Amino acid sequence: MSEPERFVTTALKRKDVQLDVSLRPQSWGDFGGAQKLKERFEIFIRAARDRNESLDHTLLSGPPGLGKTTVAHIIAREMGVNLIATSGPVIERPGDLAGLLTNLQPRDILFVDEVHRLSHVVEEYLYPAMEDFKLDIVIDSGPSARSIRLNLKKFTLVGATTRIGLLTAPLRSRFGMTVRLDYYSPEELKGIVQRSARILNVELNEEGAVEIARRSRGTPRIANTLLKRIRDYAQIEADNFITADVADRALKMLGIDREGLDDMDKRVVETIIHRFSGGPVGINTIAVAVGEEPDTIEEVYEPYLIQKGFLKRTPRGRMATNLAYQHLGLKPKAEQRELF
Ligand code: ADP
Repeated sequence: MSEPERFVTTALKRKDVQLDVSLRPQSWGDFGGAQKLKERFEIFIRAARDRNESLDHTLLSGPPGLGKTTVAHIIAREMGVNLIATSGPVIERPGDLAGLLTNLQPRDILFVDEVHRLSHVVEEYLYPAMEDFKLDIVIDSGPSARSIRLNLKKFTLVGATTRIGLLTAPLRSRFGMTVRLDYYSPEELKGIVQRSARILNVELNEEGAVEIARRSRGTPRIANTLLKRIRDYAQIEADNFITADVADRALKMLGIDREGLDDMDKRVVETIIHRFSGGPVGINTIAVAVGEEPDTIEEVYEPYLIQKGFLKRTPRGRMATNLAYQHLGLKPKAEQRELF
């Protein structure tokens, strides 16, 4: 894969992609799909508001691009409070945490993205803050060191994580609600693509929306990014109108196949099949072989490949499934068939 292609495919799934803020839903009405999640939050928020209380600390988990940040912002808007956003690795010292917490007003939301990446020291300080809304901080050092207790306003911590398994048990247990966001169905994504197309003033028919939805890895952020690239293609090659055929041609150009796999997905599966006889093989070995970070493989590529049934996790490592062989037009090896 050439460098520019590699950049596009990796960038498509990375948070740092600059996406139009205007596409971010501002209310539950705009938030497509995820019906159960919306119903749950509507009830919890209404109940907390009626009692004039802060919402319970909430943990949002799921792969990147499924709407965790968006949900946090909608919660804040519905609660009528401020949201202060930060992320686990940014809070380096207890002092950073104290600065954030002491600035919060009653019921405000502190949104901590990548909450699994908080340092242990910061986490220790967070426990009493979450539980009793108190923060004990040590000022000065040596003989003059002393601890002071700060009383905090009753705030809500909304944590987001792509790796819930990496959260420590004490931190996890301090969240009153844990909500998992799952990949969206093609039908849900179709609605999201149609809404984004209206906002971006892009003309597309039903079949065009279906095609984009089917090939967006169940992920709204990817659906929006692909829509924008397909819009560029349609502008130059197809009179500004996106049909299934136009979407298909544009997606092929972007290296995205009929199941929504991109070049890196295919490379992961092909590497397991061709270089490691279909597996089992460890994640670090796969990462070195394809030239990607193990974390990225685990957070971004693997969940979708598993969900599509192309990959499975075993105690001894990852294995390519029969379906993966079929998808790549290969015959499964005889001895592997027995394992499935
Ligand atoms: P995460 O925090 O899980 O990585 P974000 O909340 O940043 O994901 O969502 C990425 C983008 O995808 C948002 O800017 C938004 O435009 C879009 N998006 C996510 N979920 C939805 C949804 N349910 N409906 C419409 N758009 C969505």
